[in-house]
Amino acid sequence: MKALDSKLPAVGTTIFTVMSALAEKHRAVNLSQGFPNFQPPSGLVELVERHLRGGRFHQYAPMPGSVSLRAAIAEKLAQLYRVSADPDTEITVTSGATEAIFDAIQAVVRRDDEVVVLDPCYDSYEPSITLAGGRAVHVPLAPPEFAIEWDRLHAALGPRTRLVIVNTPHNPAGTVIEKRDLDRLADLLRPLDCYLLSDEVYEHVVFDGRAHATALAHAELRRRCFAVFSFGKTYHATGWKLGYCVAPPELTAELRRVHQYVTFASTSPLQAALADYMREHPEHHLGLPAFYEERRDYFNRLLAATKLTIRPSAGTYFQLADYGAISDLPDVDFARWLTIEHGVAVIPISVFYREPPAAKLVRFCFAKEDATLAEAARRLSAL
Ligand code: PMP
Ligand code: GLN
Repeated sequence: MKALDSKLPAVGTTIFTVMSALAEKHRAVNLSQGFPNFQPPSGLVELVERHLRGGRFHQYAPMPGSVSLRAAIAEKLAQLYRVSADPDTEITVTSGATEAIFDAIQAVVRRDDEVVVLDPCYDSYEPSITLAGGRAVHVPLAPPEFAIEWDRLHAALGPRTRLVIVNTPHNPAGTVIEKRDLDRLADLLRPLDCYLLSDEVYEHVVFDGRAHATALAHAELRRRCFAVFSFGKTYHATGWKLGYCVAPPELTAELRRVHQYVTFASTSPLQAALADYMREHPEHHLGLPAFYEERRDYFNRLLAATKLTIRPSAGTYFQLADYGAISDLPDVDFARWLTIEHGVAVIPISVFYREPPAAKLVRFCFAKEDATLAEAARRLSAL
């Protein structure tokens, strides 16, 4: 046999896996890969236990997701965003937002189609586009503001554009899209025959009294939009790998054609537990903005005693900081050095760009207990 000709030759191991492994090897405080080190709500864990022992949820869940979970999602969308979505034809439960993103891309992107992404962009987008035969067109968001440059976005759109991907709140920039941004996006997309993938996994991690502007609440965008969400972020349970996609019936039908042959269905007892918990505790997500804002503010106070310069975070559980006063190293080398020599693991942001800017920025995850953040800050203060 000839040597295997990779379908993803440009892809290595993800930065999240690389940095978490390095953190473990060097016993660093791991503020790199984004995951909380606190527990999911105890009532939710009890429901999982009950459903595992009850014996009714050990076999396949329905392909589009458990009926009760989809009903609970529809209820939440109505309550929170005044968005109406039919659980039978518009909501699909997936194995994490990652699967929803992959499915949506495979569902609509054809050979040689263009998909516009805004850099820094989440690392799963481009490989999914490549596997679909499409081509990613990268539009940079320039630090330190990371604002959408509408002229550049406009220039990147054209008759070959099949899909545009946006992410709000934005990982890693910590920016959020406002309603007026959605209006501008709708203006740009109006003449085009293209879809929108709105990655909203951090919908509940929005700070300083802002409201999350979901693309689903924008009537015009709603018609062409796959909106993607993650239970992992909302219930401090990233390891459960459960998420969902909301899209109009025609788009959902195509997405399900892919979903049913990627995973067929997502894990059954966890769906049952989430459905019950959402019904019993519809208020859970209402506490998340304040909860994470306190984490952010605590971490920012700690970082004030270091030579790092904090960039404001308006959403997500990530914080960017400029390390220019500490080192001249490029960010990938700085992240390795910091992990190995000083015991704090972070994520370099250049890896999320096609053409990295010259910025000296790294990303910290502050979804951690006080003691973890304090220990990281103690180590950073020595620099
Ligand atoms: N999109 C973004 C922007 C993310 O940060 C993540 C995960 N942290 C995902 C998608 C994937 O979510 P999940 O873990 O539910 O697959
Ligand atoms: N989305 C998480 C982050 O940004 C990581 C997810 C993963 O490791 N695949 O850190």
